Order: sequence, then C-alpha cells, then structure tokens
Amino acid sequence: MLHLSIKQTQEALRQKQFTATELTQAYLDRIAQTDEKLNAFVTVTADLALEQAKKADEKANFSGLLSGIPMNLKDVVCTDGIRTTASSKMLENFVPPYNAHLYDRLLDAGAILLGKTNTDEFTMGSSSENSYFGTSRNPWNLDYVPGGSSGGPAASVAGDQSIFSIGTDTGGSIRQPSSLCSIVGLKVTYGRVPRHGCIPYASSFDTGGPMTKTVEDAALVLQTIAGQSEKDATTVDTPVPDYSQFLKTDLTGMKLGLPKEYFGEGVEKEVVDTVMAGVEVLKQLGAEIVEVSLPLTKYAIPTYYLLVKSESSSNLSRYDGVKYGHASDQAKDLEEIYLKSRSEGFGDEVKRTIMIGTYALSAGYYDAFYLKAAKVRALMKREFETVFKTCDALITPTSPTLPFKIGEKADDPLSMYMSDILTTPINLAGICAMSVPAGFSQNGLPIGMQIIANQFEEGKLFHVGHAFEQATEWHKKRPIF
Ligand code: GLN
Repeated sequence: MLHLSIKQTQEALRQKQFTATELTQAYLDRIAQTDEKLNAFVTVTADLALEQAKKADEKANFSGLLSGIPMNLKDVVCTDGIRTTASSKMLENFVPPYNAHLYDRLLDAGAILLGKTNTDEFTMGSSSENSYFGTSRNPWNLDYVPGGSSGGPAASVAGDQSIFSIGTDTGGSIRQPSSLCSIVGLKVTYGRVPRHGCIPYASSFDTGGPMTKTVEDAALVLQTIAGQSEKDATTVDTPVPDYSQFLKTDLTGMKLGLPKEYFGEGVEKEVVDTVMAGVEVLKQLGAEIVEVSLPLTKYAIPTYYLLVKSESSSNLSRYDGVKYGHASDQAKDLEEIYLKSRSEGFGDEVKRTIMIGTYALSAGYYDAFYLKAAKVRALMKREFETVFKTCDALITPTSPTLPFKIGEKADDPLSMYMSDILTTPINLAGICAMSVPAGFSQNGLPIGMQIIANQFEEGKLFHVGHAFEQATEWHKKRPIF
C-alpha cells in the first residue's frame, strides 16, 4: 500500500481495502524502520497523524481531494502547536502560533500530517548538508546527497515514507532534489500559492509546491493549495483551472523549445544524453521540437545569488535573540544579545548569506550590485516572454550533474551554487517549471527532466509531464536501501 499514488490510495480507501488508520500506521512504521538511514524527518507527528486518520475513518467519506492521504511538510511550513525549525539551531524550539495558509488548505482537503522534513538551514543549499539536524540521504544510494534544500521531502517521498510532501523552491529547492531522487517536483508561478506562514528565504523568489510520485498527484495537490489568499498580498486572483483536464497523453500541436544554453558547458554528458532520449519520446508523442536561445542564462547565478542573499540578509534580521528563537545565555548587554545569539544560532551558509547580502545592500555598493542585478532580472524575464511567443514550453535538464557524494561539495560553496544553474532562471523570471523522472545513470543514480512554462501555465507542465510519464516507466522504479 506504500507504493500507491494519491489517486490509487483514495480508490483503495473508498473500496475499504484498508482504513486511513491502517494506512497511516503503515507509513509511521515505515518511517520508524527507515529514517535512521534516510534522516528525512526532523519531527514525526505520530499522535496527530493517528488522530487525524481516526477522524477520517469516522467520517468514512473519502471524497475530499486529499482525504485520508498521509503527507509531510518541509520544516519551514509553519504548523500551529508543532515545532517548526527551518533545520536551524536558531529555531530548534520554535513552536508557531498559527498554520501556514497552504497547510490549512491541505487540512481542509483531508490530508494527514506525518511530520516535518529536513532542509538545508533556512532552505539555503542544494544538498541538505547545511541542516542543523544532519544530512538527509539519497534512497537510491545512501552515500549520496538527496539534493536540497528540500532533501528531506524528496528522500521521504522517494523512500515511500509519505505519499507526497510540500517543499519550497527559491532557486531550485523543489526541482533539484526531485531530480536527484527520481520524483516529480513542481515549482509554481510566483503568486499561485500563498507563502503566508512559510519561513522566508528570499521573499520575491520563494514558492511552495508539491513533491509527489506522479504528475497526476502534483496536479491534485496544486488544485488544493493554489489560489489567491487574503493572507498573502502577492497571490494573484487569476482563476485556478481544473488541472485534471490537462492530463492528456498526446502532444500533437505542442511546440517545445530546447534552449541551447541549458545543454552546454557544465552539464554532464550522461545528463544531456538522458534528457535528449526523453526529447525523442516527446517527439514520438507528437510534439514539435525546436531549438531556441536564452543568451542571458549565463548571468543567472550571479544575479540570483546577489538578489537572494540581499533579500535574505534583511529577512534574517528578525532573529535577534529578543523576540523568539535562540537567545544566548552568555550575553551581558543588548549588543551581545544580538551578536552572540546570532553567532551561536546560525550555521555557516546563513552567515555567508548575511555577509554577502549586507555587503551588496550597503551604501555605495547598492547601485553597483543590488540594483544592477534587479535590472538583469527584468531582462531575463523579458527574454523568457519572447521565447514563449514561439513555443508552448521548454525542455531542459533539471540538475547539471548527477547526484554527488555527501561531502563532495560541502567545502566549496561556489561549486554548490553551480548546482542551481538550470533552475534559478525560472525563479528570477517568476514563471513555473516541473522536474519529472527521466532515467538513470550507468551507476543507478536518477536523472530528471525539467519542463518550463510561462506564468500561470502550470497546465502545460501537467500536459507534457503526464504524457511523458505515461509513455515511460521511470516513475515506477523504487529504490532499494
Ligand atoms: N541552492 C539555492 C540557494 O541556496 C536554492 C535554494 C532554494 O531554492 N531554497 O539559494
């Protein structure tokens, strides 16, 4: 029962093949048996999950979009009364007084919360090695990273510890770990899903979204969490379509672009070959394939890191040792409260963020760094708009490399930043993209294919992704660990 998709599980619940309580208990057992290896969970909410499952069984009505479906949330999604840490010592004991709006929407749809999953501290990273609670591991090979920052969510879904998870994506944090663990990960259009109650990294980039086993499941979860929210002024009143109507298997009439910059220098050959084999499948399904160019791609990494670290250094100023979060017991005066609480509470990458961001925003450097990067961002957005005048969606690799070994890039922030070269442009432009399983390397490590569409065109991602998935078997493979 732990291999089923959302749709299949709900079918089984309706036919009484098992109860929500049995299902939830099976997932909790699985977590207990496997999490020593995966380290995907920061907190397991067993009592709450069983209570929610009992209610679902009592109601015996599994018609809600997600009723009876056990899931987890990345540990930056605030949960009322349940510790939410952002995998930081700073928030090790932080218990939020309210729910993130997207969690409320999931609860309304009947989902069951198994726990909170691991991330790079404050979602800064691409491997989950920056977590205060230790690295999560890739179920396809435990010596390898599951990616990041949503490494816990990805490992937990790939390892059958949950049917789905909610991750966040600021520069690739849903898509890259999904690619590295062979699951489906959707980065939504900025403004499609409320960010209210999600601990921020960089507010003009952050998006919450589904990490699932199938494209259909991603559509179901998005259906639940999408839409304008009175609690988040950056959500948009664009209507939420019925996403199930996009789950087609024929791509006739679809024009798909291959941006040549995404297949060039720095992208491993096995990754390129696998994605190109995927493109052949798309062609056979009726899609027309064209080569396109996005020349500004080469500026994505510096532009992204300047802007994100600047926004983040400002966001992080709230952790002052006074209001909430870690407070040093060594401080003798106010200045020391700030200094020691922050020095003790934050890890290396967060400190790096504060230094880069504060520098870029400081008087005299603002115009040269922050403002310049903001202008490049606008140009990159325009470049995508132009390309989408000629094609429906773009196909690229998600990660330039195969999953890497734990420790391999840990001491080299720059090479870690390069992991995001193919995902950050999408966040800079505020558009949407999805990673789907596309194959495996010779040594059995997953490779993902990224589908990119214009803003609020998640439907096209589901269309292309579902057709591809139905024509391939990659999503059916299960890791043995
Ligand atoms: N690795 C990227 C960063 O550290 C992306 C992280 C994310 O999307 N949260 O900025």
